[in-house]
Amino acid sequence: MAPTPDVEHGEPVLRSIADCVEIAPGVMMPRLGVGTSHVVGTLEVEHALDAALGLGYRLIDTAAAYGNEAEIGVVLERSGVPRDELFVTSKVWPSDQGYQRTLRAFEKSRDRLGLDYLDLYLIHWPEPSLAAETWQAFEELRARGELRAIGVSNYMVSDFERLWPTATVPPAIDQIEFHPYLQRPSLVEYCRDHRVVVQAWSPLMRGRVSSIPQLAEIGRRHSKTAAQVTIRWILQKGIITIPKSTHPERLQENADVFDFTLAGDEMAAIDALDRRQHES
Ligand code: NDP
Repeated sequence: MAPTPDVEHGEPVLRSIADCVEIAPGVMMPRLGVGTSHVVGTLEVEHALDAALGLGYRLIDTAAAYGNEAEIGVVLERSGVPRDELFVTSKVWPSDQGYQRTLRAFEKSRDRLGLDYLDLYLIHWPEPSLAAETWQAFEELRARGELRAIGVSNYMVSDFERLWPTATVPPAIDQIEFHPYLQRPSLVEYCRDHRVVVQAWSPLMRGRVSSIPQLAEIGRRHSKTAAQVTIRWILQKGIITIPKSTHPERLQENADVFDFTLAGDEMAAIDALDRRQHES
């Protein structure tokens, strides 16, 4: 059976939480996943991830720095979800970068997660002096089949410009802070021009989107919340996102964004909210 196309008439296909985008040759990544920063301890991880998997989330975003890989691994293993349906991302922290340290950090993350391979591994934050060595380790892990795709996070144009001369495999993803108050149009365009898929972290401005009146107003027209409008706006831009919640009802709300479409003027009204304002 031919795979479902990820783009139709130049627009991302957005029919269900199962929709994916091809981020590297043959690597399909869900467009909507779940973040796990500050989701800690066995009970909280179980509560959030059991609910997320039950609702159909398959993209799980973690990092060594979140201190929850082992707990996530336990939930994934006993979930019964086939490994090839899951998409698991982790990240290497700056103090673990460099060639040997990255290889060791990756092995620890993978072991904690209890997986044979990770779907995506990211440089969590740029460490310019170590970028070439770290990327060499990433490329090796990918060549060995221990990683399906490799990418970066919090990379700016200058970080990419430094990486290109030493990279054989281009980064598939740049995971960046992106939400209505921080839209970074030139970085997003640069990524698009270089075929790097953008992924939005803190898409809900850590919950603050709920108090932006323009989002609530657009939501009222569609019987949706400000959070749902924000997630839909990000997805319609072709950007992957990973809103985090530990509450099953909010995980459900955040996944319930495939039955409405924002009109061009609504997309433009949200674009106009940009304040170049970081949440973190
Ligand atoms: P989000 O923008 O996803 O916001 C999460 C917060 O919003 C939580 O407090 C959550 O509360 C609340 N929330 C969730 N859903 C709703 C809703 N429907 N209505 C109102 N409030 C809601 O922030 P994050 O910073 O967590 O970013 C998402 C993910 O991105 C992270 O979890 C992590 O995986 C990744 N990330 C990556 C970074 C990087 O450097 N690469 C940096 C930061 C994040 P509650 O849990 O109580 O529901």
